[in-house]
Amino acid sequence: MGRRKIFAGNWKMYKTYSEALELVNGLKAGLKKTAGREYILFPPSPYLKDISALCVSTPFVTGAQNMYSENQGAFTGEISPLMVKDCGASFILIGHSERRHVFHETDEDVNRKVKAALAHGIEPLLCIGELLNERENGETVSVLKRQIHGAFSGIEKSAAEKVSIAYEPVWAIGTGKVATPEIAEKAHVSIRDIIKELYGEDLALSVPILYGGSVKPDNIAGLYKMNNIDGFLVGGASLEIKGFLEIINI
Ligand code: PEP
Repeated sequence: MGRRKIFAGNWKMYKTYSEALELVNGLKAGLKKTAGREYILFPPSPYLKDISALCVSTPFVTGAQNMYSENQGAFTGEISPLMVKDCGASFILIGHSERRHVFHETDEDVNRKVKAALAHGIEPLLCIGELLNERENGETVSVLKRQIHGAFSGIEKSAAEKVSIAYEPVWAIGTGKVATPEIAEKAHVSIRDIIKELYGEDLALSVPILYGGSVKPDNIAGLYKMNNIDGFLVGGASLEIKGFLEIINI
């Protein structure tokens, strides 16, 4: 069945302004495969408006790496869904492992952000994934279940249809230790099973599930062949024009 195919680059807290412009211009110049695919760039928020402007009328769209769930208020240092939209972004990363584990965001925070994004017509890319010790203790599926139930709590099916998921095992993010295609595929199937329990088979079969965690040009081929992997969320390797083009032109 024809699920959406999504390739996304998370620039994290890297790049000066001029380097960010150089990166997006290099990607625009080198992108070859456009049919049937979506490309999302997640630059640092100070550059979001300018990068979004550079992506107009190209196959690239932009997203914010994070936002707060309120529209406005005395929340120093945060950005709101209204600001994200004003900057021309159409996606938002929610629940990235660095938000969960460095900034201690809870499943409740994630749920509030998913609801805020949906209320403002911003498409959430919901990140979930287990820690190494959770995998070693056989808790992977229960962790994914807890994170998915938490993120989708109180969300109707018609709204849940707008959410895409990125499976990002925490032990694979930024570590160079990529999940094997079989490990990733098994987790993606478990995620579809959990979505099926919550919303039924049609949504379970249509939700795009991206893999993320040390994806590089030399390890993407095996993952790309898997039936339940619908694209990639790439961190480190999305910061370099040549390498990211090899990934997105696969
Ligand atoms: C990420 O930031 O979502 C990510 C997957 O990072 P990396 O590709 O560097 O592991």
